[in-house]
Amino acid sequence: MNNTDLSTRSRAALPGGVSHELRYRTPHPVFIDHAKGAEKWDVEGRRYIDFKMGSASQMLGHCHPAIVEAIQKQAERSVFSADCHAAEATWAEWVNHLYPSAERTRFTASGTEATMLALRLGRAWSGKDHVLRIDGHFHGWHDHALKGAMPGSDRASSLGIPDAVNDLIHVCSPDPQAMEAILQDARIGTVIVEASGANYGCVPLATENLRALHDVARAAGVVLIFDEIITGFRWSPGGRQARDGIVPDLTTLAKTVTGGLPGGAVCGRAEIMDLMNNETQREGLAPAVSHKGTFNGSPLVAAAACAAMPLLATGEAQAQADAMATRMRDGMNKTLHDLGVVGLAYGESSIFHLYFGRTSLDGLSAAQIRSLPKPQVKAYRDGMLEHGVDLMAYTSGLTSAAHTPDLIDEALDGFCATLTAMIHD
Ligand code: PMP
Repeated sequence: MNNTDLSTRSRAALPGGVSHELRYRTPHPVFIDHAKGAEKWDVEGRRYIDFKMGSASQMLGHCHPAIVEAIQKQAERSVFSADCHAAEATWAEWVNHLYPSAERTRFTASGTEATMLALRLGRAWSGKDHVLRIDGHFHGWHDHALKGAMPGSDRASSLGIPDAVNDLIHVCSPDPQAMEAILQDARIGTVIVEASGANYGCVPLATENLRALHDVARAAGVVLIFDEIITGFRWSPGGRQARDGIVPDLTTLAKTVTGGLPGGAVCGRAEIMDLMNNETQREGLAPAVSHKGTFNGSPLVAAAACAAMPLLATGEAQAQADAMATRMRDGMNKTLHDLGVVGLAYGESSIFHLYFGRTSLDGLSAAQIRSLPKPQVKAYRDGMLEHGVDLMAYTSGLTSAAHTPDLIDEALDGFCATLTAMIHD
């Protein structure tokens, strides 16, 4: 079957033909058949250099042999039994060792579940229902995460969310003074921040800015959550918090923490995490925070994670991915300059973003950075795909430990061809 036929079938069977709204694409998505390293192939045999990398989950590259072997071995022993098992403890020990904020870790079945649980813990610990979040930062798709997820809009970016929930969520720019003013509201007990800045750094958050937000939250005595679902194991083995020495109370992880399988984690201060310890509840000392979930910490995922942890802990994977993203950003900026296109490739760590029409983001709001004209973004993404380069979302992409200089240079040829076509359109 080809991409067009599969799209017709999928559209009839799935709303919009997809399982995730960002996979929707006109005239149709490409249907991927298999992937290896930093490349993937669609059902028609076309090859793509991948800068989506499983929505940032495949930090070590697609089908890393150590992870594939761990999954195969575990699948023969037990796919899932819903019991405690040894790898769960090993996995949590790795997280507790690598993350400065982590004294305990609890596994979830997705990143969305991780932020949902972290907010529940924040509310339970503080005894306050109201939450402060930053304009445009992304924390998954549950009811408490969508007000303020679209920069510049303080409405929830979905229908079906009760006003009573939205009323509990306060949205603020990443300006420490603005945050300080809003935290005067004594009903707020929890602050959540995407550690990279909005959308994995599309709207950057400088280290001194993040530190100032941390200090304001500390002074206000609220529970501070860093969402490191993208930055975790990517910006450093211990995420942004270890790289920059800025430590929150709670951290949410997903994508890389699982070795690239479905799942997530919340880690943090023992006294907050232990609100989930139901021994306490049984002794009648305090009501526990409830957390269930059939597939949490599943042995298959834990096996993949335990295979990935030693490879992620050395920092070598991150260094390779970072070097490749730097090569990509530098090459993109050179191409923009050579073609006389006004624009900027930017980003931190193993992530690159592109902004058209300016060579600096200074003075732009989050909403402005995120509001390039849709036809321009589509022309860019379609052009890159046409030249065998797949991006993550908007104008952004990510590298992995499997990207090589040759692949980056080939992708840069695609970038040059895409821009050239856009100029002449
Ligand atoms: N937080 C951030 C920063 C994310 O990037 C994502 C996913 N892109 C999530 C939360 C939600 O994770 P998941 O898709 O696993 O539910």
